[in-house]
Amino acid sequence: MQNIVLFGPPGAGKGTQSEYIIEKYGLLHLSTGDLLRAEIKEGTALGLQAKQNIDKGELVPDAVVIGMIENKVKSNPDAKGFIFDGFPRTVAQAEALDKLLVANNTAISGMVALEVEDEELVKRLLNRGKTSGRADDQDEATIQNRISVYNKETKPVADYYNAQGKFKSINGIGSIEEIFGRIVEAIASF
Ligand code: ADP
Repeated sequence: MQNIVLFGPPGAGKGTQSEYIIEKYGLLHLSTGDLLRAEIKEGTALGLQAKQNIDKGELVPDAVVIGMIENKVKSNPDAKGFIFDGFPRTVAQAEALDKLLVANNTAISGMVALEVEDEELVKRLLNRGKTSGRADDQDEATIQNRISVYNKETKPVADYYNAQGKFKSINGIGSIEEIFGRIVEAIASF
């Protein structure tokens, strides 16, 4: 199985690149952000709770997102592999994911990190907010909070995979095709 983690700050382009990766490698896309927004749309108890965190630019509790990922991995035993997008976002999530994959006789192949500087992220997210309808993309203070949560809680996840020799960082600035080319190269090196 080929299991890839696509990593990077909010607005780095993970969602866009995931679509290209799915098409080329036939992997199943697991985006915790998408899964959470689906719960919100359906008005589930989990969604209502998560919305409170998301709208403030905070993380949703680890147990919630780990549970969602566990369900998806277990209910897709025939998948060729997974592309994890927006997960793991904390070291505790990364540890839980490793355990889950071991239990399914597989492992993370590697993590590809998209590097984009903060100023560009804020610009991209505010721009996306004009059409996404996402409250968390429309307010600059919320965006800044997401970036600072990323720096504090999520960045250490890169060190976690680096320590396992499974980390590649690439430049996330350029055309979609250019960036995808860099991702393909990184995946080939795993
Ligand atoms: P972006 O990467 O642009 O911030 P996402 O769709 O990945 O967008 O995430 C949106 C929000 O959903 C996050 O700001 C956070 O509140 C919540 N979220 C998504 N994934 C996770 C996760 N793995 N752990 C905790 N919270 C998450």
